[in-house]
Amino acid sequence: MITVDLNLQEMSRLTQSKGVCPNCKADSHISYSKLKDQYDPDAVYFDVKCHNCGTTWDEHYSLVFFEQDNIQIPSEK
Ligand SMILES: [Zn+2]
Repeated sequence: MITVDLNLQEMSRLTQSKGVCPNCKADSHISYSKLKDQYDPDAVYFDVKCHNCGTTWDEHYSLVFFEQDNIQIPSEK
């Protein structure tokens, strides 16, 4: 597979929407795999691939605190 690095001008014409291929605009036949080696606790990064045109990209999501649950305090000894 041939990949190309895009300059800023080329980047700006591409769609940037969650779950939409920036190249062919497909919003189905897209697969996600969670990036490993991630150190940011407030974000999650996915490796994404469009199976329609073969384009790959990363999608970044910031996480919002929701609640603490399943709290287990160790008993005193
Ligand atoms: Zn595509």
